[in-house]
Amino acid sequence: MYIFDYTFTELEQILRDDQINPHHTKALWGFLYRHRDLNLLPPPLRRWIDIHLGENKRFEWDPMEVADEIHSSDGLTRKFLLRLGDGQVIETVLMGYEKRHTVCVSSQAGCAMGCVFCATGQMGFVRDLRPGEIVAQVLHARKVLKRYHPDASLKNMVMMGMGEPLNNYDAVLKALEIISDERGISMTASKITISTVGVVPNIKRLAEEKHPYSLAVSLHGSNEEERRALVPVSKRWPLDMLVQSCRDYCDSTGKKIFFGWTLIDDKNDSPETAERLAQLLQGMDAHINLIPLNPTAGYNGEPSESGKKFQQILRQAGFPCTFRQRRGIDVAAGCGMLKATKVKAS
Ligand code: SAH
Ligand code: SF4
Repeated sequence: MYIFDYTFTELEQILRDDQINPHHTKALWGFLYRHRDLNLLPPPLRRWIDIHLGENKRFEWDPMEVADEIHSSDGLTRKFLLRLGDGQVIETVLMGYEKRHTVCVSSQAGCAMGCVFCATGQMGFVRDLRPGEIVAQVLHARKVLKRYHPDASLKNMVMMGMGEPLNNYDAVLKALEIISDERGISMTASKITISTVGVVPNIKRLAEEKHPYSLAVSLHGSNEEERRALVPVSKRWPLDMLVQSCRDYCDSTGKKIFFGWTLIDDKNDSPETAERLAQLLQGMDAHINLIPLNPTAGYNGEPSESGKKFQQILRQAGFPCTFRQRRGIDVAAGCGMLKATKVKAS
């Protein structure tokens, strides 16, 4: 197991079982996620680390090595190709905006949902990531940020990299608990966004379990036919059912939802579609994020040219509606462009 797979409470139990004072968990957590200075630790904990933590020991350190780091020409986007223990490569993206830095994290290697315009969907599903493999992406992004901007801190995170986070629910939620733990990385939970294509049962579960994270739902279609042509999984969880689960989510949590909409020429960018979308979301606390289509090898749709009009209709209907800034297109780090090499399990 990786040491980053464990929550604070789990590590506390492990130390207790090993006859180490569980009060030392805070020191261990600080060492793992804050300072990495053995000298700050009490001697029994130092000994424990020496015996149990490291390569080929009971708990492995880092689940990945950096296979490559690519910077966009404007220098604002950095894409990391990270090789996991089994050789699988995943991608993580660090984006710098005017006042903040955001890390875009992967939840799976590949994705089973098959959205036609998405490079990760085109590569198919390989495997779920473990909690530690999700946590380590954030640690790596934070380290690189310090290298280039020593005074900056990483405050925002989106689960919009490779994969469908709600198809890897337990590992994702565990990783987020670790990442938002105030004694360690301490990312503010509301600044962490889980983006889903609409795994309805797990949207319900998120609401029931009252998680503090933000939720984004990728829609792309305003009626079943339009959506199904782009998002095949709509067959399993049809649009009406999805929108109802979103309404329930807003009602029971009191939170808003961010709806993602990849705008594709002649597929989902007409004024009628915008009007239907406004109708569909009527009365909901919704923010609509428009994403211009990024190119991928397996799809020859074109970016829309009528995005402004589309936006205007939604705004007139009373919805906040913004364009997601295009980022890292030249290094294939934009939305939906992540597609690391697939390694067959041996
Ligand atoms: N599986 C999750 C999160 C990862 S995809 C989801 O689908 O929400 C992150 C976002 O990128 C989604 O909103 C998705 O619709 C968008 N996206 C995928 N392919 C794209 C492309 N080629 N151009 C622009 N956006 C894309
Ligand atoms: Fe998977 Fe999201 Fe890509 Fe769809 S858009 S294939 S759900 S990663």
